Amino acid sequence: MIAPSTPPASTGLVTGLAADASPGESLAPWTSLRVGGPAELLVRPRTAGALVSILARASAGGVPVHVLGGGANTLVGDLGIPGVTLKLPADLFAEEVQPLDSGGGLVTLGAGAAIVRLTNLMRARGWVGAEFLAGIPGTIGGAVAMNAGTKHGECERVLEAVELATPDGLGWVPRSALRIRYRFTELPRGAIITRARFRLLDGDLEASRAAMEADLGYRKRTQPLSQPNCGSVFQNPPGDHAGRLIDSVGLKGATLGGAQISTLHANWIVNLGGARAADAVGLIERAQERVREATGVMLVPEVKRVGVFA
Ligand SMILES: Cc1cc2nc3c(=O)[nH]c(=O)nc-3n(C[C@H](O)[C@H](O)[C@H](O)COP(=O)(O)OP(=O)(O)OC[C@H]3O[C@@H](n4cnc5c(N)ncnc54)[C@H](O)[C@@H]3O)c2cc1C
Repeated sequence: MIAPSTPPASTGLVTGLAADASPGESLAPWTSLRVGGPAELLVRPRTAGALVSILARASAGGVPVHVLGGGANTLVGDLGIPGVTLKLPADLFAEEVQPLDSGGGLVTLGAGAAIVRLTNLMRARGWVGAEFLAGIPGTIGGAVAMNAGTKHGECERVLEAVELATPDGLGWVPRSALRIRYRFTELPRGAIITRARFRLLDGDLEASRAAMEADLGYRKRTQPLSQPNCGSVFQNPPGDHAGRLIDSVGLKGATLGGAQISTLHANWIVNLGGARAADAVGLIERAQERVREATGVMLVPEVKRVGVFA
């Protein structure tokens, strides 16, 4: 357990700032796998200025900062996250929609907004381009940080610019200045995404709608969406699928404590009830070991492990 100093060392970080702070709040409900211990201090800034001040104070005080989006790709350790865990409210920034004379438009969303806001606004405006994000849970900040997507496209395809917060303030960075690759966007050390701007296009609305419906149908058929999960656990190795490899070594359905390698999709771990982060980690390591022994492939986790594990 994170040493329950009362009040926690980090509480002073938010004194006098427009921010809500909750010491020792359990993070399990804030992740899609529903496991993990408490945040030493969970902070929800109410203004961008407060966010920058928190980052500055944390930096000066050597307090670690983690930003949690929708927790749809995060495995929080059973002993929790030390320091400050930031959660950016969905309404911290107003949505901006700017049609362009050349066709299509720019949509700017706060990092704490749900990914589905982008596809909803796209459809409402009659634009296309971000179909591949349909059905991906989480926030805009998480989607950019993870370069979320599918084989049909990744976030970077529609990303125009991001606004970053650092201890020094806020600033926009164009997409061209960011290094982005498969499931990873490199951010300056300590920087947090506060807003992202996307470029959407005029196009074939019927094809766009059909693509999203097909993706959602595929997800319902192939993914264990009725059980708490964290999406794909491993990145797909080049030219192969992590799920196929895990299935091939007989681990589909393997359980450890309350966690199970899904019987529906072997690259997913589900929480059968009462799972601990240690159970999920045990299954992750077992899958890595068995696949490496059998095939020589070392599976690389896609899910982010954060905080203190036993
Ligand atoms: C049912 C299900 C289906 C999924 N399907 C897909 C899929 O098809 N494709 C895919 O790519 N992913 C998929 N995922 C994984 C997940 O939805 C994506 O990775 C998503 O982008 C995570 O967003 P999040 O806000 O939940 O991120 P979190 O899990 O909260 O965080 C993920 C990482 O992003 C960082 N981060 C979050 N917000 C910020 C910010 N504001 N600034 C800087 N860093 C930040 C975190 O620190 C962490 O390192 C799926 C997950 C589930 C549960």
